[in-house]
Amino acid sequence: MSDLPDLTQYDAVLFDLDGVITPTAEVHMHAWRAMFETLFSDWDIQPPYTDTDYFDHLDGKKRYDGVAALLRSRDVEVPWGDPSDAPEADTVCGIGNRKNIVFSRVLREEGIQAYPGTMRLIDILDAAGVPSAVVSSSKNAEDVLAAAGIRDRFPVVMDGMVAERQHLPSKPAPDVFLVAAQMAGVDPSRTAAVEDAISGVRSAAAGGFSLVVGVDRGAGAQALRDAGAHVVVSDLAEFADAHDSRSGSGSA
Ligand SMILES: [Mg+2]
Repeated sequence: MSDLPDLTQYDAVLFDLDGVITPTAEVHMHAWRAMFETLFSDWDIQPPYTDTDYFDHLDGKKRYDGVAALLRSRDVEVPWGDPSDAPEADTVCGIGNRKNIVFSRVLREEGIQAYPGTMRLIDILDAAGVPSAVVSSSKNAEDVLAAAGIRDRFPVVMDGMVAERQHLPSKPAPDVFLVAAQMAGVDPSRTAAVEDAISGVRSAAAGGFSLVVGVDRGAGAQALRDAGAHVVVSDLAEFADAHDSRSGSGSA
């Protein structure tokens, strides 16, 4: 374990958000459930929505494609509409936008807890004077960080809003990681990047980052390595443990 690279030796560490810093997928799952339970009951749709629907129709899909697939599974058809549709609109896009409103509400009401292992690592980096930054495709990144109470831990947040404003192509293109490094004033050749998704690992690897860390939350260690991760862990606590044992403060 102690042969893991020492992340305090880098000029900065760039972290993906969903799945690396926070277990955001659970909030998305909950928001879909709350939104579709209401819709199904309002429209008398049978059978009722279950979490199996999430994995069968929504997980990993673009929002509107997921809505269309789930409704199709119940033989319900509504017009596609337009991404600019109001959340009240009974269109695929309107229903998808409704889910985003519910997501923000669930986040506000229930909050979200960052992964403890990730926060241990960020504490260690802070103590060593190594800045941590967020590189996320999500347009909810600021809300998620605020709900987790950790916004102030990241001097740079490159998220879906910034990417849209700057017309940056999404991961797996390297642009979001490269611009985040630029915003942090660091060189990719002296910077580490941490990702849990295949497309994210590809993005960081394409950016020429000195170290690309894969966090295996289900993508698979080999798949992450094949995408360009130099090292794969199942949780960032492994880096914190390695640091503690190197510095003699751990039990190992
Ligand atoms: Mg992720």
